[in-house]
Parts: sequence; structure tokens; C-alpha cells
Amino acid sequence: GDSYDEECDYLFKAVMIGDSAVGKSNLLSRFAKDEFRLDSKPTIGVEFAYRNIRIGDKMIKAQIWDTAGQERFRAITSSYYRGALGALLVYDMTRRATFENIKKWLKELREYGNSYIVIVLVGNKSDLSRNREIQEEEGKELAEMEGLYFMETSAMENLNVQDAFLQMFRKILENTV
Ligand code: GDP
Ligand code: MG
Repeated sequence: GDSYDEECDYLFKAVMIGDSAVGKSNLLSRFAKDEFRLDSKPTIGVEFAYRNIRIGDKMIKAQIWDTAGQERFRAITSSYYRGALGALLVYDMTRRATFENIKKWLKELREYGNSYIVIVLVGNKSDLSRNREIQEEEGKELAEMEGLYFMETSAMENLNVQDAFLQMFRKILENTV
């Protein structure tokens, strides 16, 4: 690798999961490239993005995998989860069905993921909160019950996006050292 790679102390893999169209890809592109796409459409295959982040005196290479449409068919394979130390589990706060499905995603995560995986539950699209179907309190309660971290975000307005990812990687680092 190049000299920048060699300066990294850790490589951490994380995965994006949740129903189709909740904003996973836009959250990731916000975090990795500070980009947002109105017309983002799912492609086929798995995609991932890298970003180097500094936490304290440690340099972390974050490798984040994104489902590229297969979540629509519930066809995510176990290799997607393999080695993942963190997961951003995303629902769309304006669509109740995406929140109801969180339990299914958790089940899959717990079946295929590491038992010590750090999970952040994310209620995305807070810019549309006038149309919300899930109150913040309800998201918090589910997170508490399931032992997850919780955050409401807007990929569109870039609200809390960095925080959601950083909280996850900070926790992963704490578990590692
Ligand atoms: P994915 O299928 O979960 O990867 O979702 P995408 O990132 O492809 O987003 C699905 C749709 O929701 C796209 O039309 C996005 O522009 C839109 N979207 C994503 N995040 C937000 C957000 O925070 N606010 C709003 N208003 N729209 C969003
Ligand atoms: Mg996507």
C-alpha cells in the first residue's frame, strides 16, 4: 500500500443494513465523500467505501460495505457480514414499515454477524420530520431494549451523519484496545 495506508493503526469493517430506499447509500456517500444524490438508484453487487478517520491518537481505516439493491430481495449473503465490527441499521422515519422490519434485520445481524458487533440504529430523513411516522422516543426505546446506539439523521441536510458513523467507530475502537 501507499505510505498513508501504512500509517493506519486499524482497519475496521462496517456494514450498512436496512430496507430499500431508507437512505443507506446516501448516508455512506455523505460520510465518505460528502455527496448526496436525489436520483440514487440501486445497482447490483456489493459496493464499499473507505475513509480514514482519526480517533484520539489512532488512525483508523474505515471500510464500509453497502448493499447495492439485494436487500429488496432479502438476498444479503453471510459474506457481507463476515468480519464486520459495526453496523448502521437504518430505517426511514417517514415509513413505518421500514421501522417494523428492524427486528428482522437484527435477527439476520445476530445470526451472521459477530456477537460483539457495534450496532447504531439510525432513523434517517429527519429533514422530513413533519411527515414522520416514528417518534424519536420510539426509536430510542427500541434501541435501549435491543442494546443499540441510536441517532436520527438527515443524509440530505447532512445532520448527525458524521456523528452516527463516528460513534460506531469510537465504540469499535474501545472494544478493540
Ligand atoms: P438505500 O436504498 O437505502 O441505499 O437508499 P438511497 O440512499 O438510495 O436513498 C433512497 C431515496 O431516499 C433517494 O431518493 C434519496 O435521495 C432519498 N434520501 C436519502 N436520504 C434522505 C434524507 O435524509 N432525506 C430525504 N428527504 N431524502 C433522502
Ligand atoms: Mg443503496
